[in-house]
Amino acid sequence: MLRYLDVRSRTRTEMIDITSLVQEQVRAANARSGVCNLFVLHTTAGLTINEGADPAVQRDMMTFLNRLVPLDPYFTHAEGNSDAHIKSTLTGTSLSVFISEGKLLLGTWQSIYLCEFDGPRPRRVAMKLCVDG
Ligand code: ZN
Repeated sequence: MLRYLDVRSRTRTEMIDITSLVQEQVRAANARSGVCNLFVLHTTAGLTINEGADPAVQRDMMTFLNRLVPLDPYFTHAEGNSDAHIKSTLTGTSLSVFISEGKLLLGTWQSIYLCEFDGPRPRRVAMKLCVDG
């Protein structure tokens, strides 16, 4: 079954923890065991899994990505957001997470993030649950 997660970003670049939104959809689908596939439907956003405990980790990652790929005038893309397109490719646009006993199988410190690289904007993540049995 295909579902959608709608998220609104608040700043140009940020990491938004969507773990509870995803888990809520898993619960609503009554999925006990299987795979949750996520795909962000945008070219200037990404998906990643990383630490959810200390917000400094998210800040440091975004600071690093912004320094790695600055808003640079030598880019030729007329929209002026090539940095965001590049960061989207760096993080990737899809994730798969196993579902075990009705819950996303994540490590203790892991959270699922929508990475915003050209906000603020409304964002949509497609979610496909493949359930065992
Ligand atoms: Zn563009």
